[in-house]
Amino acid sequence: MRIGVLALQGAFIEHIAMLRRIGVEAVEVRLPEHLDGLDGLIIPGGESTTIGKLATAFNLMEPLKAFGREKPIWGTCAGAIFLSKDAHRSQPLLGLMDITVERNAFGRQIASFETDLVVEALETVEPGGPPFPAIFIRAPLIESVQNGTRVLATLEDGRIVAAQQGHLLATSFHPELTKDDRFHRYFLSLVNSD
Ligand code: GLN
Repeated sequence: MRIGVLALQGAFIEHIAMLRRIGVEAVEVRLPEHLDGLDGLIIPGGESTTIGKLATAFNLMEPLKAFGREKPIWGTCAGAIFLSKDAHRSQPLLGLMDITVERNAFGRQIASFETDLVVEALETVEPGGPPFPAIFIRAPLIESVQNGTRVLATLEDGRIVAAQQGHLLATSFHPELTKDDRFHRYFLSLVNSD
């Protein structure tokens, strides 16, 4: 199995390190040809406007859309914004996932925080595991999901922070910044079953 990590900007090194730690071949993706032969792709957190501008400049928009129609993509934070259909403003988006996101939804004062999330879907990778330690950094909210997109995790007040639509996965938070590899293993299970 070979997983690519979009390496234009943001926390791509941490995703690659996590993938390698769980024994998966991980490669950096900067150009369209780097997508060849990959089984799945992770789009990291960072700044979604910058990722979108660079993806446009490197002619990656169409190849990424085509890849996501066929193969699993997981977007974390800015990556989730980039996967979405609607971010309430004009910026390059892949528009692959039927989710509407609200950027920087937590305001400046509490822009970054950590909280434990109950994520039932992770039972498939580790039955009876503890809540997931989720790190939010100027994070987006998944305001709404459409067309059968499944909500995977919410905050205690019900606001959505993880969703899945077939082989597409979006998380508002950063599993690659924790020691907990269950979300990465969950994504790999989507790659394996695709
Ligand atoms: N605030 C960033 C954005 O809107 C996302 C932050 C992150 O990826 N940690 O794109």
